Amino acid sequence: MSCKHLQATNEHGVGSRGSGSWFLGPTIAVLLVMTNFSLAADDVTRPGQCIQNILRYFSLFGVKRNMGTGKLLNVQDLTIPIREGMLVFPGDPMPICRSKTVPFGNCNLSMSEIQLSVHSGTHVDAPAHFIAGAKTIEQLPTDIFVGQVVVIDLSHKTNVILRQDLDRAHISKGEKIFIKTRNSLSLHDPVYNSQHIYLDQEAARYLVDKNIRLLGFDYYNIDSSQVETLESHLVFARAGIPVIVAIDMSQLQAGTYHFSAVPLPLVGVEASPVRVVAWRDSP
Ligand SMILES: [Zn+2]
Repeated sequence: MSCKHLQATNEHGVGSRGSGSWFLGPTIAVLLVMTNFSLAADDVTRPGQCIQNILRYFSLFGVKRNMGTGKLLNVQDLTIPIREGMLVFPGDPMPICRSKTVPFGNCNLSMSEIQLSVHSGTHVDAPAHFIAGAKTIEQLPTDIFVGQVVVIDLSHKTNVILRQDLDRAHISKGEKIFIKTRNSLSLHDPVYNSQHIYLDQEAARYLVDKNIRLLGFDYYNIDSSQVETLESHLVFARAGIPVIVAIDMSQLQAGTYHFSAVPLPLVGVEASPVRVVAWRDSP
C-alpha cells in the first residue's frame, strides 16, 4: 500500500521488554467500527535482527523449502494486494493508509496506520455477515483455513454455475473447495464487473449437501451482482460454512493443493482479510 507519509514524534510510549533486550514486541490497537477497522502497529527489534525477521516472515510466501523433505515448494500467492485505490465492492470504503516516522533512540521508526473495510480485497465472510447471531470470524476453527483444498476449474462457464457443473467435478464429502472461473481474469480490473460468473442457489445447496467445509471463489460476490439477492450466500451461512471471495486463481490449475488462508481473530466481526497461498507437493 502506498501510504501518506507524516512526520511525528513518538506518541506510542514504546519501551523495552525484558532485561537488556531491545525487543519491544508488537503493539496492536484495533478500532472496530461496524465493518471497518483501523490498525496501528509497531514491531521493533535490533536493526540487524530486523532485516532477518522480515526475510523470515516473507519466506512464508514464494519459493519455500519443505522442512520434511528438503525439496523446494512453489508457493502461489492468490491474494489481491491491499492498496489505496484498489477495487472494492460497490459502496465499500476505500482503504486509507497513513505512515509517519517516529524517532526512537538513534533510529527513525516507520509507523503506519491503515483503515479498511474487512471486506477489502481477498477476504473471508463468516456466517455472521448474513445472519445475526451466527458465528463471527474469530469463532471459526482455524483448521478450516489450512490443509488441503480441491480447485475446480469452471473457466468454460460464461454466466452461472449450475448444480450439474459441480456434479461433473466429482466432489467428495467434507472437502474444502475453490471454484476457479474466468472471473479471475477481471479481478484486477479497475472497475467492478457486475457481469461476473456467479453460483446458482441449487449449486450452493449441492455443495452444502457435500458437507464442504470451506468455499473459495474468484470474485467479490458469489451471487449475481445484477440483483440484490443473497440466495447462495445464505445457503452457506445457514450451514455455517465460511466463504473466501476475491481469490486470484488465474495461475492455478485444477487439482488438489495444500493451502493456508487464516483470517485475523477480529473479535465479534463478520469478516477478515486473508492472505491465501497454495502449493503442491514437489514431484
Ligand atoms: Zn465480504
